[in-house]
Amino acid sequence: MRAEIIAVGTELLLGQIVNTNAQFLAQECAALGVDVYFQTVVGDNEARLLQALELASKRAELILCTGGLGPTQDDLTKDVLGRFLGKALSIHEPSMERIRNVFSSRGIHMVESNARQALMLEDGDPLPNDTGLAVGVGISSGGRHYILLPGPPREMKPMFQTYAKTWLQGVMTDAVPLHSKMLKFCGIGESTLEHELLDLIESQEDPTIAPYAKEGEVTIRLATKAHSTEEAEAKMQPTEEIIRSRLGQYLYAEEDVGLERVVVRLLQERGRTAAVAESCTGGLLSDLITSVPGCSSVFKGGIISYSNELKHRLLKVPMEVLEGEGAPGAVSAETARLMAENLLQELNVDYALSVTGVAGPGPSEGKPAGTVFIGLAEKGRPAEVMESKLSGNRDMVKLRAAKLAFYQLWKRLK
Ligand code: ATP
Repeated sequence: MRAEIIAVGTELLLGQIVNTNAQFLAQECAALGVDVYFQTVVGDNEARLLQALELASKRAELILCTGGLGPTQDDLTKDVLGRFLGKALSIHEPSMERIRNVFSSRGIHMVESNARQALMLEDGDPLPNDTGLAVGVGISSGGRHYILLPGPPREMKPMFQTYAKTWLQGVMTDAVPLHSKMLKFCGIGESTLEHELLDLIESQEDPTIAPYAKEGEVTIRLATKAHSTEEAEAKMQPTEEIIRSRLGQYLYAEEDVGLERVVVRLLQERGRTAAVAESCTGGLLSDLITSVPGCSSVFKGGIISYSNELKHRLLKVPMEVLEGEGAPGAVSAETARLMAENLLQELNVDYALSVTGVAGPGPSEGKPAGTVFIGLAEKGRPAEVMESKLSGNRDMVKLRAAKLAFYQLWKRLK
């Protein structure tokens, strides 16, 4: 089954709101095994909405519309679809009753136009709106299926999940659901990863292999159509095995989770604690790790020693290391090592991570933007420091530095 999503609303065309409804519906369709070939945005205009419906019904069997179910004159979707299909509109009494009750329970006078939200198309099935007023519609006509959903996402999503999906499954006969699996990698860039898998990517058929980089991590999404999870697993396994054999050392999760979550999990499993000393990341490591629920059992805290003064006062990095002629400088392996080692002592943790670097945009201490040193100290072992040259703007360098720091700890823990 081919689908087209039509989002109705002039606000969308003006760029005042983002079309998140289309994103949500596209994901839902993919999970149901429905191929979305087109997404259309059209304003609150009768003629152009009619044109959009005409075009969509030529190139899709399922047309999903969102928006324009409200009470005002510019809410036209039901009227226009009624005209297009030659179906009369009438008040759906149970929905009308519900709207009246909502108004009376709130003690608000109901204006006549609110009755428009109870309109239903002849031969259409009502899709109840548990979180709003306008009733949705599911209707099949001329070998096409149409679903009308409200615009506000807080109404559209529950209506789709609870009612439209069931309606759709009732009219779909041969759709095979899409199953996907996320493989998450760290310590390797997107282009290197793609290079390692180029032969697989170029010859891919089933399953499909989609690598993409997001928030300092690289993800591969394997996807296949199958009737069951077991069948999907069996179809994806040979490809997954090849990927593992080539890139297993960078693979940190088989689900869509951030690296810091896996690090917290490993620390918990091993009963270890950690702390961080941050310069150029300005608290980002602490922020990322504390966004993981339950991290308090393993994360003791951090020091943001952005200035040399605090690196010296709180982390006991000697001033002669930080500044002065011939000194290694604040952005150096020596500083990263001392930050990590001294933090380990001061906070009495099992692992201490440190980050010092140049976030950019310009150089610092004669070192180019993107230069980053990451220190890792562990009780009973000499501290290790890694140097990296990261690309991207200031925010990207900070994020990549933070992820790289977690990568060092993840490698040690696994
Ligand atoms: P209402 O009864 O609130 O008028 P409606 O079904 O008529 O609902 P619209 O008037 O088109 O829907 O949109 C109402 C609000 O819903 C918009 O102001 C916007 O906040 C949100 N919205 C509409 N369409 C979308 C979309 N495609 N993606 C995200 N949000 C949307």
